[in-house]
Amino acid sequence: MNLTCHCGNVEIETQFDAKEVVHCNCSICRRYAAAWAYYEVGDVSIRCHKEASVYYLWGDKEVEFHRCNQCGCLTHYKTTAKCDVNKIAVNMRLAEPDVLADLPMSRLDGATF
Ligand SMILES: [Zn+2]
Repeated sequence: MNLTCHCGNVEIETQFDAKEVVHCNCSICRRYAAAWAYYEVGDVSIRCHKEASVYYLWGDKEVEFHRCNQCGCLTHYKTTAKCDVNKIAVNMRLAEPDVLADLPMSRLDGATF
């Protein structure tokens, strides 16, 4: 699956199509309105054509929330060395509307942990 931010600077290629998306209600995901699909790090390649993405770290600094430095789209998050899991979540809001509409959505109660 290939996804890009709005301006095309950030390009994401995944080895497998997402099978579901997760809506998390934690303080950051609900503000982003992200629809996450989770991947192992080796199954995703991310290229920034013009400028590197920028990221936001907060709280325990276990997750970098990356956005395009040009168009501002939230593209993915990746866990840092402080986190005990190593994964990438791709924001499926970058997908075409019909692709996103066909994916089952589950809710993660991230607000309570
Ligand atoms: Zn962009």
